[in-house]
Amino acid sequence: MESLYHIYKRRGYTRRDFLTSAIAISTALGLPSSLLPKVVKALEVKPKPVVIWLEFQDCAGCTESFIRSTSILPTDVLLDYLSLEYHETLMSPSGFYAEESKREAMEKYRGKYVLVVEGSVSPKDKGVYCTVAGKSNVDLLREAVEGAGLIVAVGSCASWGGIPHAYPNPTGALSVSEVLKGKQVVNIPGCPPIGDVMVSVIANYVITGKAPELDSMGRPKTFYGQTIHDRCYRRPFYNAGRFANSLDDEGAKKGYCLYKLGCKGPITRNACATIRWNGGLSFPIQSGHPCFGCSEPDFWDRGMLYTPLSVVSGRFGIREALVGVAVGTAVGVGVAYMNKKSRGGK
Ligand code: SF4
Ligand code: SF4
Repeated sequence: MESLYHIYKRRGYTRRDFLTSAIAISTALGLPSSLLPKVVKALEVKPKPVVIWLEFQDCAGCTESFIRSTSILPTDVLLDYLSLEYHETLMSPSGFYAEESKREAMEKYRGKYVLVVEGSVSPKDKGVYCTVAGKSNVDLLREAVEGAGLIVAVGSCASWGGIPHAYPNPTGALSVSEVLKGKQVVNIPGCPPIGDVMVSVIANYVITGKAPELDSMGRPKTFYGQTIHDRCYRRPFYNAGRFANSLDDEGAKKGYCLYKLGCKGPITRNACATIRWNGGLSFPIQSGHPCFGCSEPDFWDRGMLYTPLSVVSGRFGIREALVGVAVGTAVGVGVAYMNKKSRGGK
């Protein structure tokens, strides 16, 4: 099977283009520059990754984000690079032929393939609320996990249960790691997650043969080690106490901090403020909209999307520090702690 370098060559790209992508992957993964020659070597010779992508209770938004990842690999290279053996939205076979190609791939690449899961899992009532080809989603998941070299849960639905898990959770939706207790699952939350992050985690597996370093909630530390607030370019306004009070007032036009409009950046771990979206073009806060905190557990149930954190936290019994700059930080620490506890993190 071809390596990334061979695909670049076949598609008419130059070696410089290939090296630019290798550097982008290495940078995104936070690897030291001394390791760059090893990254280049691995991408020159290691065969492209085999991916089996299952969709359960999802909206396919994570897939949409994935195929629009352009900063690291051009889209045509990306789709050529991944050996997508099964993906209901992107594959051309359907029905019996689709299921047969998945079965063959699971046998042929046993122990080596990357299993990506998009959407939450519904074990309630024997999994009857989410079935594919007559099998329950739980059975399909367990069957695919058996031979997987790496299990990746993409999106907040697969990582935490997401919107299907929101109250009253009629299908009993769970995250992938709740169903696969004891197995290592790489969580890439976000609704949807950033495409470049998903691509980088798969590229990391090609290069190192293992998962990236994870935090206590299964998220890659490189991408989820900081909050949006930690890296937000509006932070100087927050520190100076300059806030927009509506989406179109003078403060908003001057680019002031969106905290009072409900920004959840202080409690949200993700790389939106650094990697950004659409080839690094922008992210919600840069477009003038507060962060909803979509990559944190239960963001939908907490609701009050446009309500400041200091008020939202009151619903959960967290003691509030209601004045000035300290508000966001105090609430951030409290809610982040609550997120960890609710998901069994340390
Ligand atoms: S995480 Fe969001 S974008 Fe992804 S499947 Fe769930 S609802 Fe859709
Ligand atoms: S509260 Fe939101 S807009 Fe303000 S600095 Fe923090 S992340 Fe940026």
